[in-house]
Amino acid sequence: MKKRVAVIGAGPSGLAQLRAFQSAKAKGADIPEVVCFEKQSNWGGLWNYTWRTGLDENGEPVHCSMYRYLWSNGPKEGLEFADYSFEEHFGKQIASYPPRAVLFDYIEGRVKKAGVRDWIRFSTTIRMVKYHEATGTFTVTAHDLKADRMYDEEFDHVIVASGHFSVPNVPEYPGFDKFNGRVLHAHDFRDAREFTGKDLLIMGTSYSAEDVGSQCWKYGAKSITSTYRRDPMGFNWPANWEEKPGLVRVDENTAYFGDGSSKKIDAIILCTGYKHHFPFLPDDLRLKTANRLATADLYKGVAWVHNPKLFYLGMQDQWFTFNMFDAQAWWVRDAIMGRIAIPSDKAVLLKDVENRVAGEDAGQDAHDAIHYQGDYVKELIAETDYPSFDVDGACEAFFEWKDHKKKDIMSFRDNAYKSVITGTMAPIHHTPWKDALEDSMESYLKN
Ligand SMILES: Cc1cc2nc3c(=O)[nH]c(=O)nc-3n(C[C@H](O)[C@H](O)[C@H](O)COP(=O)(O)OP(=O)(O)OC[C@H]3O[C@@H](n4cnc5c(N)ncnc54)[C@H](O)[C@@H]3O)c2cc1C
Repeated sequence: MKKRVAVIGAGPSGLAQLRAFQSAKAKGADIPEVVCFEKQSNWGGLWNYTWRTGLDENGEPVHCSMYRYLWSNGPKEGLEFADYSFEEHFGKQIASYPPRAVLFDYIEGRVKKAGVRDWIRFSTTIRMVKYHEATGTFTVTAHDLKADRMYDEEFDHVIVASGHFSVPNVPEYPGFDKFNGRVLHAHDFRDAREFTGKDLLIMGTSYSAEDVGSQCWKYGAKSITSTYRRDPMGFNWPANWEEKPGLVRVDENTAYFGDGSSKKIDAIILCTGYKHHFPFLPDDLRLKTANRLATADLYKGVAWVHNPKLFYLGMQDQWFTFNMFDAQAWWVRDAIMGRIAIPSDKAVLLKDVENRVAGEDAGQDAHDAIHYQGDYVKELIAETDYPSFDVDGACEAFFEWKDHKKKDIMSFRDNAYKSVITGTMAPIHHTPWKDALEDSMESYLKN
């Protein structure tokens, strides 16, 4: 009997897993039966944009946290697939910070070429996974949302690739219930034009705060005030953007800050992060971790230390994305196919996690963190046949990117970097980011 493998989610991580198995098959290996369950009606995960917020057409929580006009927030040279370059997909080198639709097209191109779409059961959400000691297998309970039918199937392995930037962390502050304007989390932010001419309060200092605020600035917000708890983001903001320490309270139309100052505001966007949330997993299988580079309880960052037949992909905080998911997926594939042995002594697995946490904690700054994650990618790649690539070169692109942001946060996307896969330099985009209000794929590609 062939082993059966369930993959939960067809975002970039789940799709990397399908491509990993398909590439082994293409080389003549006898691969397990792989079934991928995806609750949305299409693949791409967060990159599968929808205007919807709240609940989707099936009454399930909307997964998408992306918005119109989103452009890659890091250089594409840091995420390029080693087995499928941008040049292969687009037939030419393209500029370094593609909008969402362009990256979606790229992600889709590789899996279309691999021919794995029929491995996926779309509009099917996983409700529960249970492990049976006696048989050493998992029962996976799926809900076919179109047919409105629930069913169970048995699997030898489960790979959780359901993402962790979808379920919002929503704090409450005094006065939110009396505020006259809109209060929303970044997860529900879709169109910056809604805030044209408005005085906007952005809470947080994450990528979301930086990018949602920048979008609103680009599309004509009157002013942006962003608040921080510990340290300000500290970029050279435009004249109508200021950073304020800790929000204390709001009333009907004013926000009051920790330094005693106040500001009239029209709307509040909470860029306050996301939760690792797995409502379909019982206590003995459920990952509980902070959003960090070295997650809790995952050997090699992927195998569940308490039962290494279960794997998680992409649960780390992310400098590297698509190529790191690939490195993980190829490693997980090989662990499942018996090409890589996972130690049977749990103490060894726990020690691995402990060392990874200590390694991350020893880093001083973002530079160290990028190197740390780059080294992790190298470590996994070295153990599989994933095409080797210049990970240090990708780290260099990230360092340049950080310098460019420091110099001018509103123009860092006007820079170009060299591909570490094909060695070619990206062109500078034809229009500065701040002026490129139309960002369709067609417009982006007409270099
Ligand atoms: C606003 C925003 C901007 C970002 N910008 C960038 C960027 O510019 N560059 C970059 O590299 N990364 C960016 N990211 C990071 C992003 O995490 C990764 O690019 C990538 O999407 C992660 O892939 P994933 O497959 O792990 O998770 P996801 O993309 O979240 O995909 C998970 C999939 O699992 C499915 N799923 C969830 N639960 C279930 C269930 N119970 N049953 C069945 N299916 C389920 C979901 O529907 C989804 O399709 C951004 C993230 C956000 C939130």
